[in-house]
Amino acid sequence: MTMFNPKTIRPEVRVAGCLEVVEQIGGYLRLELSEEEVGSFHRHLSGCERCSRRVAFEQTLLETVRAACRTGDKAPYALRERIHLLLNEEDRRQAKG
Ligand SMILES: [Zn+2]
Repeated sequence: MTMFNPKTIRPEVRVAGCLEVVEQIGGYLRLELSEEEVGSFHRHLSGCERCSRRVAFEQTLLETVRAACRTGDKAPYALRERIHLLLNEEDRRQAKG
């Protein structure tokens, strides 16, 4: 067994922090992150339920908006309702901690 040595950690295996992940969600969903950034992003998510939920939430929101745009609905009442529900759900989750 070798001792853990921080010096052996190469940049590509580092794990992003919560703040970093939150800042990167937009870029991640728009596929703008580098391979290295996506790697550290995923590693963080695998160990952080809070950020995983946040990313899942943002992703659902983005997909909902995209779907509404595809249908060309000019008065997207259903979309607003959906977003409203999602936001309420997220509020409840955050209230729970
Ligand atoms: Zn996190």
